[in-house]
Amino acid sequence: MRILSGIQPSGTIHIGNYFGMIKKMIESQNDGELFAFLASYHALTSVKEKEALQNNMFEAAVNFLALGMDPEKSTFWVQHDVKEVLELYWILSNHTSMGLLERAHSYKDKTARGIQANHGLFSYPVLMAADILLYDVNVVPVGKDQIQHVEMTRDIANSFNHAYKQEVFVLPEAKVDEIVATVPGTDGAKMSKSYGNTIDMFASKKKLKKQVMSIVTDSKELDEVKDWNGCNIYKLCELFMNQDELLALQKRYETPGEGYGHFKLTLLDKINEHFEPYLEKREYYVNNKDEVRDILAHGASKARKIAQAKMEQVRDIIGLKL
Ligand code: ATP
Ligand code: MG
Repeated sequence: MRILSGIQPSGTIHIGNYFGMIKKMIESQNDGELFAFLASYHALTSVKEKEALQNNMFEAAVNFLALGMDPEKSTFWVQHDVKEVLELYWILSNHTSMGLLERAHSYKDKTARGIQANHGLFSYPVLMAADILLYDVNVVPVGKDQIQHVEMTRDIANSFNHAYKQEVFVLPEAKVDEIVATVPGTDGAKMSKSYGNTIDMFASKKKLKKQVMSIVTDSKELDEVKDWNGCNIYKLCELFMNQDELLALQKRYETPGEGYGHFKLTLLDKINEHFEPYLEKREYYVNNKDEVRDILAHGASKARKIAQAKMEQVRDIIGLKL
């Protein structure tokens, strides 16, 4: 079974990415053949500064490696190092109806947030389809926000296969963990790198605390009973706590005397405790940039071999050969 995961180097990796995708991706290295890449071309839809993109790419690579990405067992690369994906993107564009793209929630959400509505953002799902179809992927572990994009990939693959009357592309399945389907951000909306509402597990202690303290709650005072159900702090605690710990936390909400600031500190402790074991390895890669570059180059050469063979097949089928 082939599994594919991608993340955009569009900002600092956050706990929504971790629980929505990274954790499952790392675990999946034992279940099948993992293909994981940093979606640098996709990140161009929101990052328009050279240094920011470079820093984000390096950070994302370091964080993946620290969290357990095994570059020997898996194939780990940066999207722009395998250019075949852009050729497939163009070919697939001709099998993608305008109506399909116009229905994309992610595009609507992002433009509603003020991100520039350009063609790259609009055609993002076609490039994502190319990422998946190029490698004959069976499973794509994602957060809920990406289910629709995987469904679009299936539609595009079907339309291509139908046009050429051959099963050229494998139809992928999205794999979503219902409990962490959408991790809320500090403002209660979907946590997103480009929305400025993230909690970044590897930020400095000071920044992490500031992010946790900025979680939006209602305005109940210390001496009031509070509702844990629907509270953003509680929703985030659910990611880190077992059932007993959650019951104890519910009690604290229901007993007057503590404020939201206390619950936020409990959450902060949990985040620090959860990610502490990865800090040393992270530090190692931060200080060994050349090794990170080598790992990614090695991954790109593995991915390229598969991509080149697939594109040979596709070009032949569609008539791009004399
Ligand atoms: P951007 O704002 O640039 O779109 P993002 O934070 O949404 O960034 P992506 O790179 O688009 O991150 O997505 C990487 C993976 O993380 C995807 O599988 C996506 O489903 C998952 N993911 C992103 N945000 C969340 C979230 N809040 N909850 C659960 N999963 C998430
Ligand atoms: Mg996103």
